[in-house]
Amino acid sequence: MHWFCTFNNFIQAILPPPEKLKLLVNYISPEAYSHISDCTTYDEAIRLLKSVYVKPKNIIFATHQLATLRQQPCESINAFIHALKLLSKDCEFKQIIADTYTEEAVRDAFITGTASPIIHQRLLEKDLLTLSEALQLARSLDTAQCNAEVYSLPLAPGCCILQLCSRNLCFYLQTAAVFAPTESTTHSAENPPADTPVLASVVIPRCSIMPDGNSTASLSSNTKVTDVRLPASLRPLHYQLQLQPFVRGNFSINGYVQVEVEVVTETSVFTLHMADIITHNETVKIVDARSAMEISILKQTYDNQRQFYHAHLQQPLTKGCRYVLSMEFTGYLNDQLYGFYRSSYTDSNGIKRWLAVTQFQPTDARRAFPCFDEPAMKATFEVFLARETDMSAVSNMPKINSRPIEGQQGWMWDHFNTSVPMSTYLVVFLVSDFRSKEVTTQNGVSFRTWARETAINQTNYSLEIGSKILTFFEDYFSIPYPLPKQDMVAIPDFASGAMENWGLITYKETSLFYDPKVSSAYSKQRVMKTVAHELAHQWFGNLVTPKWWTDLWLSEGFASFMVYVCIDHAEPEWQMMEQLIMMDLHKVFRFDCLESSHPISIPVAHPDEINKIFDTISYVKGASIIRMMKFFLTEATFRRGLTNYLKTKAYANAEQDDLWNFLTQAGHQDLTLGKCVTVKTIMDTWTLQMGYPVITVMRSADGASATVTQERFLLRKDPNSNDTHVYRWWVPLSHTTQATADFSKTAPSRWLSKTDSKITIRSLPNSSQWVIFNVQETGYYRVNYDENNWKQLIKQLKADHTKIHVNNRAQLIDDALNLARAGQLSYSLPMDLIAYLKSETSYTPWATALNNLAYIDKVFSRTGTYGSLKNFLLRLLGLQYKSIGFQDSLTDPHLDQHKRVKILSWACKLGHEDCVTQSVSLFNQWMMNPMNKSIISPNLKYVVYCTAIAAGKDKEWEFAWNQYLNSNVGSEKSRLLSALGCSRELWILSSSMFNNPNERLTRYLEMAFTKDTGIRKKDVVRVFHSVASNTVGKDLAWTFLRDQLDDIID
Ligand SMILES: [Zn+2]
Repeated sequence: MHWFCTFNNFIQAILPPPEKLKLLVNYISPEAYSHISDCTTYDEAIRLLKSVYVKPKNIIFATHQLATLRQQPCESINAFIHALKLLSKDCEFKQIIADTYTEEAVRDAFITGTASPIIHQRLLEKDLLTLSEALQLARSLDTAQCNAEVYSLPLAPGCCILQLCSRNLCFYLQTAAVFAPTESTTHSAENPPADTPVLASVVIPRCSIMPDGNSTASLSSNTKVTDVRLPASLRPLHYQLQLQPFVRGNFSINGYVQVEVEVVTETSVFTLHMADIITHNETVKIVDARSAMEISILKQTYDNQRQFYHAHLQQPLTKGCRYVLSMEFTGYLNDQLYGFYRSSYTDSNGIKRWLAVTQFQPTDARRAFPCFDEPAMKATFEVFLARETDMSAVSNMPKINSRPIEGQQGWMWDHFNTSVPMSTYLVVFLVSDFRSKEVTTQNGVSFRTWARETAINQTNYSLEIGSKILTFFEDYFSIPYPLPKQDMVAIPDFASGAMENWGLITYKETSLFYDPKVSSAYSKQRVMKTVAHELAHQWFGNLVTPKWWTDLWLSEGFASFMVYVCIDHAEPEWQMMEQLIMMDLHKVFRFDCLESSHPISIPVAHPDEINKIFDTISYVKGASIIRMMKFFLTEATFRRGLTNYLKTKAYANAEQDDLWNFLTQAGHQDLTLGKCVTVKTIMDTWTLQMGYPVITVMRSADGASATVTQERFLLRKDPNSNDTHVYRWWVPLSHTTQATADFSKTAPSRWLSKTDSKITIRSLPNSSQWVIFNVQETGYYRVNYDENNWKQLIKQLKADHTKIHVNNRAQLIDDALNLARAGQLSYSLPMDLIAYLKSETSYTPWATALNNLAYIDKVFSRTGTYGSLKNFLLRLLGLQYKSIGFQDSLTDPHLDQHKRVKILSWACKLGHEDCVTQSVSLFNQWMMNPMNKSIISPNLKYVVYCTAIAAGKDKEWEFAWNQYLNSNVGSEKSRLLSALGCSRELWILSSSMFNNPNERLTRYLEMAFTKDTGIRKKDVVRVFHSVASNTVGKDLAWTFLRDQLDDIID
């Protein structure tokens, strides 16, 4: 079927009667009005309009105006919609709309044109649609088989455009700027109140190139597509990017991209990723790189579900040849913390300052510029960023020069050096008024930190350690840092902890800031860990990049593991290799023992799936199995294999099998790996299947031999599970015995292979002596023993625990308590075992025990037997409390500071008299001198706040609340918010503790979910968590969530 489409058809179909036409034309332009007001007939007016104002811009304005006037009966709008439905099938028409809408309508009409006098009059007469009416109308017009969604494109402060796309049409509703966007209201330009008047609405057919525009390939389907990969026909080589973000203006971005590609297989469609970008279709050009001959474009389309832009070409691109696509486009600095987004802070004069920064990993570079947004599509980047003269721009590479922008007073173009070949997700831009500090590393790399002016001194520590860590990694990998400079910047609004963009790492402020006077030992360690993780990525992830997100764990696991190697070198006193056991290994064991876990190497396609795998399993299990590998291959072999891998794959991409090959080679050469086995054989069992084994060691009656078996460790076995997979691993077995205790032999003495259901180990001592498996807990598995061996181990711990390596002491505690929790051991055994802690002084076994006891504490806290558990725990903690003491000093050994916090927080929680008295007294001193921030040591602040609020009444709560409102230090605000949830005043007073809702906590929860109370949206979860983890607040939080769920979702 062929639909005739002419401009006249269109006009006839949509235009209102002549008297309305006058209004309409007046709105289009006063000049048009003067012509058309002489017309007497409808046809005459149309003819005139056509001849004078045939520029497609007016179509937009016509439609714009039509839907705006409320006098227009719905029938007219329906007629218009009907016409559009018909017309949208015609490409010529689509093209007109697409070209003009993007170029003219958005920029000129919406941004600069604002509303006409008539619109203003209507507004005064309150005769306009409200936003909710307009949305309702839009939905009612075309909802058949449609998948309507509301988007917002913020333009100018106080007003926005809402986009609502159905199957055939997109509605754009421009709201009035009738409310002042302020910090205190939850309504913003992106979230206008429902009664906001709509100034204008535009309806355009879906097939135009707009953000979330046409979706021709998937008209009949609402389900999520899975074939989201780019065609492999083109390979990007080089991008030139010019971006002018209006950071202090309407947040739009003027963009220009030029990308040179090589044709891998002949194709007549040029496909790129793109999202939330308005293309200027008339500017798109594709030229042959050698002859400069232009290739004609037949049409341009957009595939919304795959976020693909297609240029359909008249002739196919020749295999092996190079072509350059260039286009101008408009983008927006969103406030969603992805793509190229805006962030703000308040300076010391109380003035709000804006900045723009990027977060592209994993799939959001396409929101900043059209590109081949897949990690294997590496290319070089030449970036130009426009900024106002009092701001600075930073990108991956050093700046080469700056020049003023012609015709734009106060603006400069900064031109950056061409980058090394890299993935799009590592590209970065920053435009801000931040200050910087600079040092040069030992090997001559320029190293800078950036932050807002009043906080720049808080980056001194990260600058100092960052520059040293960079040199450490150069040495460890035997590969120089590939770029001439490294920047690190603290961003006020940031979605994750940090992002490893090559040459300019972005951080959440609390991940980069450290102030020796106010930061705790824990924050110092966290800053060091984050900086080391991101710098490790400069090699693992940036230099060699996973081919696809399935292998994300490879770069995240390595970066996470290298943190420990690096800090162990820089701060040996911190005992990071020991802390790793408790912080990483035991942590991920708790997730990976659930049936809902997942393999670390996992096929993913859609961006939603990709985003989901940035989780504990990828990061921490990744790090833990890499650590296991390092131990079974030995350090020297492991390092050599790594260096070969990184050098061979530099500036390219790799899969886990590539790494396995290099490590196998090194292992075979060094004879640390048997000739008949490969790293792949072993590691596939750890990466391709989820979970981990528990090894059961059953010794013979005389103790001299033991059978060893493996089984997947599950906390709970679902009797209805339909998982039929047989879980078996290649398990490196290391062990030592009481007679010949040697905890340095971490290399496996035997392997329990995937095919072995059982093996026997001989030459063990007699049964009155213990054996211990998994030396230093280097393997990713748990161990269970026969009862006698457990008893021998407990006897040893109680007699002289130092005979067993500290890692294995932590292992015994964690394994025993979790085996009991899973029903594989009687609880009496681990409770007997942890009794040895009375004489334990090391941090890790204590932290391991307390982390596990939190579960038991929670279960028993509401039972009649809680008293005896509490007394048991207080007795256990008593001696430690005495030796470590309440007095804190930031110059104490690092692990002692950690241990003090851990012991004190438990002692205070359990009501240890001295702990509570001291906390309350310190808090009272602070209440008397609120300005004195040094009364309470940074390490103890949370314990003291929480304890004093729990023990106190309204006075303490109100004081802490005011401190929260007045503080401008992020970490302090978070601490106070969490501590406010510790309140239990009514519980103490009430006789029936669970029937009487705690009013304070209820009010606190209500505040969190109510606007303008001072609690920011991003902190709501923190408040909820603090109330829900309070024994008194648990039920309350649950009831609140259940009752208010609808409101919360709204
Ligand atoms: Zn990472």
